[in-house]
Amino acid sequence: MTNEATGSSPVMLELGEDYPEIREAIRRICADFPGSYWRDLDAREAYPTEFVQTLTKAGYLSVLIPAEYGGSGLPLRAASAILEEIHAAGCNAGACHAQMYIMGTLLRHGSVEQKSSYLPKIATGELRLQAFGVTEPTTGSDTTSLKTRAVRDGDDYIVDGQKVWTSRAFHSDLMLLLARTTPQDQVRKKTEGLSVFLVDMREARGNGLEIRPLKAMINHNTTEVFFDRLRVPARNLIGEEGKGFRYILDGMNAERILIASETLGDGRWFVNTAKAYACERVVFGRPIGQNQGVQFPIARAYAELQGAEMVLRRACALFESGRPCGEDANIAKLLSSEAAWHAAEACLQTHGGFGFAREYDVERKWRETRLMQIAPISTNLILAYVAEHVLGMPRSY
Ligand SMILES: Cc1cc2nc3c(=O)[nH]c(=O)nc-3n(C[C@H](O)[C@H](O)[C@H](O)COP(=O)(O)OP(=O)(O)OC[C@H]3O[C@@H](n4cnc5c(N)ncnc54)[C@H](O)[C@@H]3O)c2cc1C
Repeated sequence: MTNEATGSSPVMLELGEDYPEIREAIRRICADFPGSYWRDLDAREAYPTEFVQTLTKAGYLSVLIPAEYGGSGLPLRAASAILEEIHAAGCNAGACHAQMYIMGTLLRHGSVEQKSSYLPKIATGELRLQAFGVTEPTTGSDTTSLKTRAVRDGDDYIVDGQKVWTSRAFHSDLMLLLARTTPQDQVRKKTEGLSVFLVDMREARGNGLEIRPLKAMINHNTTEVFFDRLRVPARNLIGEEGKGFRYILDGMNAERILIASETLGDGRWFVNTAKAYACERVVFGRPIGQNQGVQFPIARAYAELQGAEMVLRRACALFESGRPCGEDANIAKLLSSEAAWHAAEACLQTHGGFGFAREYDVERKWRETRLMQIAPISTNLILAYVAEHVLGMPRSY
């Protein structure tokens, strides 16, 4: 059916539980990775190897890779459902989610040779593409001012610089790296002159690439990465030199949508956990959940999550139909991160002192979901996008 006025076909938005078989399968997998598994990893700051391997073997991390390259070629909404369910079950996909969205840069902008040599191996898990090197210590959200340089030298580029918060670098074979190939003062716009490389970290470590663990509030296996005259073969440049920032931007809507999905899942876990505890904990001779002061923050968080989910679903539907979805993807990330945080606060408060006891998992999830208001993009930067690109207000930076 086509809209006669615009000539475009309507965007279909499914309500209720979509991808029920996938969701059920994810719930079954997650049941084998209970809170005790995550608590133990958290205490040891260890990587959830078994969890990631199980998802990889079952094919859930390669759902977005087209079938011709060994994946299942499903729409973004399927990946969204997978990540939401993982988080709603109390697990955490932070150890392996990056592959889902950074693979898109290779898929959309990589050469035929690059796609056919890497994607099938990524689909089977033989190669792990989990590291994404964008953020730098001195420039932060001002991505186009990043300092890491890649200078052409014969058949190679020589890379010098530093990245920070490069999560999963110790647990990935490949890194998608954004570096400057033309100095900022030699380009027309500061978004030009940046390039994307696929760095094979197996060859690079000890040969110009050093990775150091970065201790953090949550167990996110994050690192600092140092480049000291690292040689990266020119054949590992993705797309055209100097166009890298646009390639990364292309992938950001998918990233926002997938992170919003995880966050929504976190929110669902908090609401369900808070509701269950409120109904069973008896103080002053009745369940604490009988008091409206306990009920209302949980009910409000639930309502906020429902609203965030609708925007998220619309973002997915627009993305899949190839229409602009920047507004919805950004707003979905904003609303879900705030709704999940309100749910986290309600859940912690509902648990009283036991909210601080590690065995309840509330404090761990509370710490984990706080990240979503900061990474991969902070709330202010989303608001700046909405103010400038959606509402047309003057640029602030
Ligand atoms: C656990 C964790 C994992 C991460 N993993 C990765 C990863 O794998 N790869 C990667 O590349 N990065 C990663 N990051 C980095 C993350 O994307 C950044 O932390 C985030 O984008 C914010 O950048 P920043 O920390 O440099 O903050 P800054 O840019 O220094 O900003 C600090 C604060 O100032 C605000 N601010 C800055 N400029 C403005 C402005 N113009 N207007 C209004 N407010 C402003 C910001 O909103 C923020 O609240 C990770 C971060 C964390 C904490």
